[in-house]
Parts: sequence; structure tokens; C-alpha cells
Amino acid sequence: MEFLRENIERVRDRIGAAARRRGRNPEDITLVAVTKGVPAEIIEKGIELGLEHLGENRAQEFLKKYPLLQGKGVHWHFIGHLQRNKVRYIWDKVDLIHSVDSLRLAQELNRRALEGGRKIKILVQVNVAREEGKFGVAPEDLLPLVRQMASLEGLCIEGLMTLAPWLPDPEEVRPVFRRLYELSREVEALSLPGVQMRYLSMGMSNDFEVAIEEGANLVRIGRAIFGKNT
Ligand SMILES: *Cc1c(COP(=O)(O)O)cnc(C)c1O
Repeated sequence: MEFLRENIERVRDRIGAAARRRGRNPEDITLVAVTKGVPAEIIEKGIELGLEHLGENRAQEFLKKYPLLQGKGVHWHFIGHLQRNKVRYIWDKVDLIHSVDSLRLAQELNRRALEGGRKIKILVQVNVAREEGKFGVAPEDLLPLVRQMASLEGLCIEGLMTLAPWLPDPEEVRPVFRRLYELSREVEALSLPGVQMRYLSMGMSNDFEVAIEEGANLVRIGRAIFGKNT
């Protein structure tokens, strides 16, 4: 498991360096280790090595791993497309859902939250780059959608998430991250009840440093941690 220790150290160093380049405190940036496709034993090692936040993008895979890793004090993040019929299985097991992109999904989450007597924390996923076939609301639909979601009392809307297009040079996606930051300021300026732009979830293995320079405070990193040849 030496590779895992080294990868985690290297990622943390790079997060710290990117934060300091912008005069930010590295401790304000949360590393979400994306564990899709990673066996529970390896994840357990990662937890021993200090990983505290884990992210999964599929409900089924998450539900298989969740019981195996219970009681280890980790925080789970749901980061993938969420179908409404899966909400009831996962809503009370995750700390934050990064990928809410429709009013109907928000309403279903709200229904569970009100029934269960516990608020659900969500981020709204934005398709900043308007990529075909990718999830997320179009930038121009974000403000109207957040206004509608704000009336759902079971939800805490805590920020925005985006998936940047994959480009070999991460510099090229900088405008995408910058735009998500600006959108979060626009949402904040609405001063809606239950809406507070605490989190910007952006940046993955190939582009997290640029994302941090543009204001990310949740980075979702899989391959750079769990890949053996990174
Ligand atoms: C897989 C995944 C990641 C992590 O991607 P890596 O390139 O492995 O770092 C981040 N966010 C989402 C939504 C993902 O599905």
C-alpha cells in the first residue's frame, strides 16, 4: 500500500501549494477521495492513512460499500447522477449530495427530508461548459431553479458543483471554474432562505490545482489517489 501513502501525500502537497499560490489556507479545502471502482480493503487503508471524506457516483456501488465501512467515522459524498427512485436508499447515509440538477429531484429529496425529520444538504450541479450528454443545469437556468428550490424547507442548498470538460491542458478549463465561482456569487446575492454558497465542488485528478486557484473548496479526486500509475 506504499503507493497509496505516496499518492495521498502528493495530492495533499499539491492541494496545499495551489491554495498558497492564491493566499488561501490549505485547511479550507476538503479532499473528497472518489472511491468508485475501488475495493473496500483499499478504501479502508486510505482511511487509515487519513482520508476522511469519500465520494461515490453510483447508488448501487455506494450501498454495497457503505455497510463495509460503517463505524469508521468517514463522511460520504454522493457525486453522480441520482435517480429519484434511488433517493430513499441513500438520502440518510450521505453528508452531502453534489449532483442535484432538477426541481423534481429536489422535491423528492425534500419529501424524504420532511418525512425523516432531518434536512438534506445539497449542491446544485451546473453544466457550465454546456456539454452534450452531461448532467447539470444550464447556467441561465440556475438562478430560477435555485429560487424554486429555496422554498423546499427540507433542503439546505450549500453550493455548486461542476464537471469540467476533459482537456489535456487543465489551463483550458480555468474559465469553467471561474464561471462557477461567479455563478455562486450571483446565487449568494439573492439572499434566499436556506441557501448559502459555502461550497464550490470542482476539480478532479487532472485539473484540481486550477480549480483551487479559482476558488474550489471541495475537490473530488479518484485516480490521483487510487491509481497505481499516477
Ligand atoms: C470519477 C469522478 C471524479 C474523480 O475523477 P478522477 O479523474 O478519477 O479524479 C470526480 N467527480 C465525479 C463526479 C466523478 O464521477
